Amino acid sequence: MIRFDYTDDERILRDTVRSFARAEIAPHARRWDEEEKFPWELIPKLAELGLLGMTVPEEYGGSALSMQQIAMVIDELAQVDGSVAITVASHNGLCTGHIALAGNEEQKRKYLPRLASGQALGAWGLTEPGSGSDAAAARTRAVRKGDRWVINGTKMFITQGSVGSIYVVLAVTTPEKKQKGITAFIVEKDTPGFRVGKHIEKMGLHASDTTELIFEDCEVPAENQLGPLDGGFIDTLKILDEGRITIGSMALGLGWGAYEAARAYAKERVQFGRPIADNQAIQFMLADCRTELEAARLLLRRAAWMYDRKERVTRESAMAKLWAAQAAMRACDRAVQIHGGYGYTREFPVERAMRDCKLCEIGEGTNEVQRMVIARDLIGRALG
Ligand SMILES: Cc1cc2nc3c(=O)[nH]c(=O)nc-3n(C[C@H](O)[C@H](O)[C@H](O)COP(=O)(O)OP(=O)(O)OC[C@H]3O[C@@H](n4cnc5c(N)ncnc54)[C@H](O)[C@@H]3O)c2cc1C
Repeated sequence: MIRFDYTDDERILRDTVRSFARAEIAPHARRWDEEEKFPWELIPKLAELGLLGMTVPEEYGGSALSMQQIAMVIDELAQVDGSVAITVASHNGLCTGHIALAGNEEQKRKYLPRLASGQALGAWGLTEPGSGSDAAAARTRAVRKGDRWVINGTKMFITQGSVGSIYVVLAVTTPEKKQKGITAFIVEKDTPGFRVGKHIEKMGLHASDTTELIFEDCEVPAENQLGPLDGGFIDTLKILDEGRITIGSMALGLGWGAYEAARAYAKERVQFGRPIADNQAIQFMLADCRTELEAARLLLRRAAWMYDRKERVTRESAMAKLWAAQAAMRACDRAVQIHGGYGYTREFPVERAMRDCKLCEIGEGTNEVQRMVIARDLIGRALG
């Protein structure tokens, strides 16, 4: 049965991550954002807490958290810093999660302990300059040559693109089969023919690393094929089901952090001789933020609960991500409004939250793509 309360384990995890985030991340988040600096110093600490091996079974050195727990961790991190949240979410869910899902025993033994311990960060390359929402239009090509695969192409907007050292890359292996002809490969950073392309300068998430990846006759051994030949897209859809829950949780955390900041500010800021929180216009903004964010948390919790029960969550995770991203964006907007002119300055964290939050309406499927996924599922089920 779905629970509205938290188990003791969940409460302990939430409180541990919350204390860590407030002590070790919050004091530096503004500086990391301004310097556009990847917070390397945080990586060993995240690893020590088990937050880099959340999708990794214990036998490979991971902490094997449930999706409910992972969602909670990302929410807590995002409440203080979106960049750290997306770093942890993508490392765990995309690259590491794909190897944990589709890797054979040898691949799991070789890569998962390094990823879980923070010795290596993971990146995952699906998007290309010409294919984003339409992932089936990918052009990166892998051609078999003896006991090797030769990869050519460019990947775009890849999180951990330059700070990562283990990459999962999707490439076309059988072009005539379109999305059913895509295969995943593991590429290590020092592989000849692979290089990091340009750094992407972004609106927000400045302390998260985003780059192009370039493959020019990049040869990987045949054993680096991840999952079945031409089966990469099916695994990608599973990864994205999970990714929507974590990016939705990131949105929730960003919106919640902004809402809490606005709530505190509204009680302190005095205009016309009384705190601005005494005005119903401000109270209603806070009430709307809280109501919409709590609804997001419930949708996310349901999707995570179903995921943990190994149920299909395509529609539920898309609904949760769509709602959470929009609710969080509205919460950030209201939080900036409640802060007035100060909200528009870098001095207050709501400005950064608003910039960071916008990504949640775009990454791992835009709002429009989520609606397409939901509608396709509804119509499919109705007809079936
Ligand atoms: C900071 C950041 C980090 C990222 N990290 C990664 C990563 O680690 N790995 C990775 O592979 N990718 C990553 N991405 C890529 C991300 O997933 C894509 O940007 C996203 O899927 C959208 O693709 P696009 O940018 O090509 O937009 P497009 O697909 O070109 O979309 C442009 C607009 O058209 C709309 N649109 C497209 N098709 C339709 C349609 N059929 N109907 C209605 N509207 C439509 C979209 O909703 C959007 O509004 C990242 C992106 C960013 C910005």
